[in-house]
Amino acid sequence: MWDEFELASRAVRAGQVRSQENEHSEALYMTSSYVFGSAAEAAARFSGDVPGNVYSRFTNPTVNTFQQRLAALENAEQCVATASGMSAILSVCMGHLNAGDHIVASQSIFGTTVVLFEKILSRFDIQTDFVALDDTDAWEKAVKNNTKLFFLESPSNPLCQIADISAVAKVAHKHDCLLVVDNCFSTPIFQQPLALGADIVVHSATKYIDGQGRTLGGAALGSEKMMEPVYAVLRSAGPTLSAFNAWVLLKGLETLPIRMQAHNNNAQGLATWLQAQDNVTKVYYLGLEDHPQYALAQRQQRGAGGLLSFELKGGKEAAWRLIDQTRLMSITANLGDSKTTITHPATTTHSRLSPEQRAAAGISDGLIRISVGLEALADLKKDLIGGF
Ligand SMILES: *Cc1c(COP(=O)(O)O)cnc(C)c1O
Repeated sequence: MWDEFELASRAVRAGQVRSQENEHSEALYMTSSYVFGSAAEAAARFSGDVPGNVYSRFTNPTVNTFQQRLAALENAEQCVATASGMSAILSVCMGHLNAGDHIVASQSIFGTTVVLFEKILSRFDIQTDFVALDDTDAWEKAVKNNTKLFFLESPSNPLCQIADISAVAKVAHKHDCLLVVDNCFSTPIFQQPLALGADIVVHSATKYIDGQGRTLGGAALGSEKMMEPVYAVLRSAGPTLSAFNAWVLLKGLETLPIRMQAHNNNAQGLATWLQAQDNVTKVYYLGLEDHPQYALAQRQQRGAGGLLSFELKGGKEAAWRLIDQTRLMSITANLGDSKTTITHPATTTHSRLSPEQRAAAGISDGLIRISVGLEALADLKKDLIGGF
């Protein structure tokens, strides 16, 4: 029913089912289980003959509202909510892969996803090879007989590279592989990977979907057929979303369209301003016309998002000095929050890489990443100006 409505309306309205109390806001169902009118009704619910709630690891009305709303935003047939972004990625892999299968993933994905693939899935005989996000031929070359799944994150963090999602989807499908896209940074407001040919979208709702640093959450989305095995894993393995967190995330979704636009406007303003500063040698932001993938970004995304990074002359010392003189920004690696965060990737998120690996990944000692929040742009500039 939501097809006829725009995203802003879906974000506020989709999925709500009022109880007999006729509450205006979404009801929060804090209950682990549900009672039945009779032994016969219990039997019918358990057998699945009569649909309805049995236990909140299987279904919960508040979680269901969140799932419906996010599905309406991503134009997905189905959404399954999870306890965190990582449990969404784990459940997709557990639902769709078997021992002996192979994953091709982009190099610049979230660090914990790399740990999951390399250290945990490998113990169940699922191996992963990593390729450059923006090199479609490299994806094809990495395919083996047992490759079942492509996994990418676009745009990448912190250097804002993107994949040509339609082109990578074609390669995946030619080899009977599924394409899974982590859409955390763009959110459905700026990018809808399913429409570009992806089979499954995953989210860390912890980031922009909550957007206010209050809770962890995640989701996987796709067709009913794609979600069936994912839901089966969740239902039995248990990393489901709590009703309370679903309620918080529902409130996050209501403002997601206007927040994303505001993040985008602030980031665009800050990126343009940074380009003009002394000692800034390079700015990485998809909304800048000199970004090498600007044309693809314009085609594929409806906004460049809130994440940017830049290189400062003077290496680590200069970068740390700039970070330490800020008064407003939070020094943390978290992102997608209404509060602006500032990070030195070389000594935090990418510190486990060797200097050679960092150089290969384009993470220099003078690189600074900012997740641009919702403070006034003028104040963000004021916060940085003393560091150049
Ligand atoms: C944070 C993040 C995750 C993991 O999500 P959690 O909610 O922390 O489990 C996955 N992918 C990306 C791109 C992220 O930024």
